[in-house]
Order: sequence, then C-alpha cells, then structure tokens
Amino acid sequence: MNCPRCQHSHFVKNGFINEKQRYKCKACNYQWTENHVPRGRPLTEKTLAARLYCQALLPWAIHECHRKNASHIALHHP
Ligand SMILES: [Zn+2]
Repeated sequence: MNCPRCQHSHFVKNGFINEKQRYKCKACNYQWTENHVPRGRPLTEKTLAARLYCQALLPWAIHECHRKNASHIALHHP
C-alpha cells in the first residue's frame, strides 16, 4: 500500500477513526483510512495493466504495442 495522494510508501499509523486504522503519509502529510478508495488508479497499476495487455497480444502486435506505450525503451533498444 502507498499513499493514495502521492504514492509515497513512507507512511505511519496515525490512530483509528470509526474503528478503522488511519495512516498518515510522511511525505505529504495526507491522512487516510485503511479502506480508502482513491480516485483513479496509481500510475504503477496503469503501467502494469499496459504491460499485461501487451503480453496478451499476438507476437506481431507486441512491437507496435511497446512502441506506443514505452517509446523511451525503444530508443535504448532500436
Ligand atoms: Zn503522500
């Protein structure tokens, strides 16, 4: 679990609210409870989803998929 606001992994337990564990981010001081559902998805999750999507495609489509999603990688591996 990371901070829902800044995705920082450095947070501390900060008491309980309505019997739910509350956490506080050490990076941005954002506070949230254990079952907090952030709006949108973390960037890392989007990246993972994109990669899984690539792997599910046929071999001829993988190159095209990588080119669209990770053009910076293509630069390193022309
Ligand atoms: Zn934070």
